[in-house]
Amino acid sequence: MARPSIIRKTAADLKVAPQWTDYEAGRVGFSWEQVRRELGGAVNIADAAVERHLAGERANRTAFRFLQAQGEQTLSYADLSRLCSRFANVLAQLGVGKGERLFVLAGRIPELYVSVLGSLKRGVVACPLFSAFGPEPIATRLKLGGASVLVTTVELYRRKVEKIRAQLPELRHVLLVASDGASCDGIAGTLDLDRLMAAASDRFDTVPTLAEDMALLHFTSGTTGTPKGAVHVHDAALTHWATGRYALDLHPDDIFWCTADPGWVTGTSYGILSPLLHGVTSIVDEADFDADRWYRILQEQQVSVWYTAPTAIRMLMKAGPEVARRYAFPRLRFIASVGEPLNPEAVWWGKEVLGLPIHDNWWQTETGGIMIANTPAFDIRPGSMGRPLPGIDACIVRRDEQENIHEVTTPEVEGELALRRGWPSMFRGYLNNEERYRKCFAGDLYLTGDLARQDRDGYFWFVGRADDVIKSAGHLIGPFEVESVLMEHPAVAEAGVIGKPDETVGEMVKAFVSLKAGFEAGDALAMELLGHARKRLGAAVAPKEIGFLPSLPRTRSGKIMRRLLKARELGLPEGDLSTLEGQS
Ligand code: ATP
Ligand code: MG
Repeated sequence: MARPSIIRKTAADLKVAPQWTDYEAGRVGFSWEQVRRELGGAVNIADAAVERHLAGERANRTAFRFLQAQGEQTLSYADLSRLCSRFANVLAQLGVGKGERLFVLAGRIPELYVSVLGSLKRGVVACPLFSAFGPEPIATRLKLGGASVLVTTVELYRRKVEKIRAQLPELRHVLLVASDGASCDGIAGTLDLDRLMAAASDRFDTVPTLAEDMALLHFTSGTTGTPKGAVHVHDAALTHWATGRYALDLHPDDIFWCTADPGWVTGTSYGILSPLLHGVTSIVDEADFDADRWYRILQEQQVSVWYTAPTAIRMLMKAGPEVARRYAFPRLRFIASVGEPLNPEAVWWGKEVLGLPIHDNWWQTETGGIMIANTPAFDIRPGSMGRPLPGIDACIVRRDEQENIHEVTTPEVEGELALRRGWPSMFRGYLNNEERYRKCFAGDLYLTGDLARQDRDGYFWFVGRADDVIKSAGHLIGPFEVESVLMEHPAVAEAGVIGKPDETVGEMVKAFVSLKAGFEAGDALAMELLGHARKRLGAAVAPKEIGFLPSLPRTRSGKIMRRLLKARELGLPEGDLSTLEGQS
């Protein structure tokens, strides 16, 4: 279906984001120093996110509303501050000091949020992990991160940690949460977190930290290989605040829902920190995806700003528009997505079914926060990642034959996406992998490993990861373009495209698709999809083969693992599967 290439913003859209239009018009400037002043000069993230709000009326506002199987639990900013102080005191009593690393392995329970913020208050580095990880990925990460403390639940400890404990001599303390009703008593080598919290004082003076002190550790999604541990510092809070304002349009009365788990950087930067820095209320859903449930949350919790991922949007699309139509979202005014390219089809689906287009934005574990975005104040170009945010300098670069990097100044030329150093949430290293870290930089440019192009109006368009790009008969083909065209077909729920070695053309394009309910896999549909793709893309770019799968393999953060599709197709070793969804 032909649709316009731009979704225009109206005056009503602009009203909610006057800061951006002022910035664009040059009425207000932007500097990171200015953002530092917005945070009242607070350096430690916990001070900026929690303590700063206690003096005013925000102290009693809800910081988190946890949706749990047994009901709702809310924590105000004042509650959160007291609990974090208790937690920081617990760490102090255990002799856990500044710079040590604390890992959390738990579902989205209040203790996870309190442990992360309480650690920051104590100057301890926090690293949340997906609770669905199996024992081996947990052991590898704890070892690599030099964990001295682990917070987990009784159930997860018994099932996953007990058997690897002997491999972790540096792990001095395991603090157990009895959240699943199981008792913490009598488990050798562990402490009962509840008991320690009850005995601790709820006053604690934040340990002074420097802007460059390490604050958070985050592992990448493992989409292209073994996950890397990215180190972030307290100054990252500046980016979390600025992006919360300019990319997510957070305002004090907002009810914000970031659907990501804190085991993925999005769930920490935007599921914990950014909304707190703005003093808004966050919804935390402890359960997994379910279309009906998610629509009910949007409606009943009166969510006004929603941050989710393409995989979730595709699953909602798969469930069909009739499910969405059983609900109403009068308070919802802004939807954003991150993690993978957002097919134009999904942007339009938002507009047609939810009444709001979806705003794609781009960033990485390494960047710590949103870098490029479709913002509330810009017209949306469906299929584009948007434009760089204030304070972010992005460009396209190419390598010459001597491997020297050159910035491309001509619009529409494809190359590697690069960012100029200097934004506060830039990672400061890959744990124990200095060489890999150094390879990410050329002079003052950080090379992202993603291919993209910039149009004449400054919008960036994702082409594919450098690793996934297909070289076929002299053409460079980005999987995203092919996948988006397949997604236009009514039968296709999701698509993943790979290059398959071929004697004549170098690499042949092969697509894998999963189907929406009511469609049958088979030769007839395969022919129809190949024909549709050929008509839209031309014979050189269209796939030559189609494979049907019940669902595509993806990471726990929801990204299609094209390297796994390829390895399986070619009968090659499957590589690091620690982040593959459904493994544990
Ligand atoms: P690994 O580095 O371990 O392979 P990963 O790169 O998937 O995993 P993340 O840091 O979680 O780990 O993801 C960042 C990557 O996700 C980006 O480099 C990009 O490839 C992709 N991505 C994120 N947002 C978008 C977007 N809006 N459009 C296209 N791609 C995106
Ligand atoms: Mg990456």
